[in-house]
Amino acid sequence: MKPPPFSYAAPATLDEAIGLLTEHAEAEPRVLAGGQSLIPLMNFRLAKPGYLIDLRNVARLSGIRQEGDVLVVGAMTRMAELERSPEVAVAAPLMAEAVSLVAHSPVRNRGTIGGSLAHADPAAELPAVALALGAELVAAGPGGTRRIPAAEFLQGPFSTALAPDEILTEIRLPVWAGGHAFVEFSRIHANFAVVSVAALVELDGDQIRRAALALAGIAPTAIRATAAEQALAGAPGDDAAIARPPRPPSAACPPPATCTRARRPGSTWRVPMSGAG
Ligand code: FAD
Repeated sequence: MKPPPFSYAAPATLDEAIGLLTEHAEAEPRVLAGGQSLIPLMNFRLAKPGYLIDLRNVARLSGIRQEGDVLVVGAMTRMAELERSPEVAVAAPLMAEAVSLVAHSPVRNRGTIGGSLAHADPAAELPAVALALGAELVAAGPGGTRRIPAAEFLQGPFSTALAPDEILTEIRLPVWAGGHAFVEFSRIHANFAVVSVAALVELDGDQIRRAALALAGIAPTAIRATAAEQALAGAPGDDAAIARPPRPPSAACPPPATCTRARRPGSTWRVPMSGAG
């Protein structure tokens, strides 16, 4: 299928992009990043923006830099850049590990960190990483910029705290000193995982000083397993302690009816049930 007709602009500045979002509000405009989620949704007519604002030419939206103990990643930074970046490998190795599990390299060559977070797929890897790290997301709109903690940013399946006239500009990832792991179960290689776990552990001698665990695929958004984090804090950093953290309470993981997804025949990825007819 082809998308319905739409207008298109590729502004050179962030102000211009925000201005276009405001000016064409009645056309329900969307910003276009890597297009790896938005274009398929438009082709299936599950998204029908009347105006596409392509961010590819907007200066200073991509790049990776360190500011003290925070790694700052521009929203338009491609996943492939994250995967190969020496800065990310050192300052946010959890991100490097997780991003390598997203889809196939052609998708990662185009897909952006900002697009993945703004799309807010409950099964996606990068929102779980942002949540585990306690990332802050920077949004710019007509009234200026604001920082949104990842836990507040992710509001539901495909739903975020971004206002319609706001653009995600940066993701601020605190540097963790300890160990990390990103583990996922996927039925088909490079497809969306059924469930993923992002784990961070910081040691104080032989004891766990703090732990952060985020789970994706089991609830309307990625969630923190706070009970397990609390049980691990202060525990010996051995296999027995790590094997016995409490499970997340079932109330925190409602049956994922709201984020149930259907597989389209012949497709290699899934689309929202609500729009799949
Ligand atoms: P786009 O598709 O351009 O945009 C997605 C949404 O975010 C749109 O609503 C857009 O308006 C909005 N948006 C984008 N950037 C901004 C911004 N800066 N500010 C505000 N809003 C913004 N994802 C996974 O997590 N795991 C997988 O295993 C996986 N497998 C995939 C397999 C295939 C075959 C394909 C095609 C996709 C897969 N995806 C997977 C989705 C992919 O990772 C998407 O690319 C990513 O989720 C969106 O990033 P994007 O830059 O392409 O965003």
